[in-house]
Amino acid sequence: MNIENLLRDNIKTIKAYSSARDEYKDATANMVFIDANENPFQTSVNRYPDPKQSKVKERITKIKNVSKSQILLGNGSDEVLDLVFRAFCEPNQDNVITLPPTYGMYSVLADLNAIEIKSVQLDKSFEPKVSEILSTQNEDSKLLFICSPNNPTANSFNADKVEELIKGFNGIVVIDEAYIDFSNHESWLSRLNDFPNLIVTQTLSKAYGLAGIRLGICFASEYIISVLNKIKPPYNVNQLTQDKALERLNSIDDVNQEINMVLKERHQLSSELSNISFVETIFPSDANFVLAKVDDANKRYTQLIEKGIVVRNRTTQPLCENCLRFTVGTEEENKTLIKILNQL
Ligand SMILES: *Cc1c(COP(=O)(O)O)cnc(C)c1O
Repeated sequence: MNIENLLRDNIKTIKAYSSARDEYKDATANMVFIDANENPFQTSVNRYPDPKQSKVKERITKIKNVSKSQILLGNGSDEVLDLVFRAFCEPNQDNVITLPPTYGMYSVLADLNAIEIKSVQLDKSFEPKVSEILSTQNEDSKLLFICSPNNPTANSFNADKVEELIKGFNGIVVIDEAYIDFSNHESWLSRLNDFPNLIVTQTLSKAYGLAGIRLGICFASEYIISVLNKIKPPYNVNQLTQDKALERLNSIDDVNQEINMVLKERHQLSSELSNISFVETIFPSDANFVLAKVDDANKRYTQLIEKGIVVRNRTTQPLCENCLRFTVGTEEENKTLIKILNQL
């Protein structure tokens, strides 16, 4: 598979912006830095941040066991996914495939980039319909989005099906692993070097508890990462974000402890929900939220709001009629939720 052929023509030949820190790289050297028109007075952030985010990537390399040259960081997964669109999808010509019900940003980004969306609904057990997906692709299909564990259905997809899709799709397969740290399934990162057309995205927004700093991670072949590096804004991850991310990545034991607490609470929440009279189905979860089918989602949603609890109403999503999505909160928050559901 020749990945270069999948790139947009303008991207094949594009030249990256050369920043001051690209031209003289060692920002820690004992030199007088008067090359970037920065303000010389200290504010702790008067210097431009490291455009390659070396320190953050070094930590990610250790935790995820992927080499630095196969990592790109962005301003949230949103920016990472947008860069992937801009690298591979020719506006008003190419198309991407999504598997609803799934994360809403794929279609928002497709619309933004003037890219047609072909959608193939999951089957009734929320698994991808492999042969239908592969027969839907055409020569202009550039990206296939696989969200696993999937939002909002909370399940991870069968690994054999995902592998068939990676092998059978003629474009780039993007596996969104925003919830992988809550999952029993193995990350596709361990297979990154088996498939040149595989991109895996993760984020510090969920398990790492850093949604506010906006740090998304893209893992792919060295070639794909080199292309994305050429087209990303040079200083796309700001200094405050890099500092905070580094601090958190250095406290990985705390992160793992919190993940374990969420998993324990997820189990508790699922079993408590099964005792609520108007809850009809609780879907198995491999993420930090639980999808449940109730008697009347609109009614229950409004009742919960009146009691001070905001859940996500997913009833308009395909296959999710009368479904509510509950994010796993603290032990106390979950107790409050169950108490109020019982009162209803
Ligand atoms: C929450 C979520 C993300 C996170 O996006 P960020 O921009 O990194 O905060 C990505 N993908 C899915 C499926 C999500 O649910």
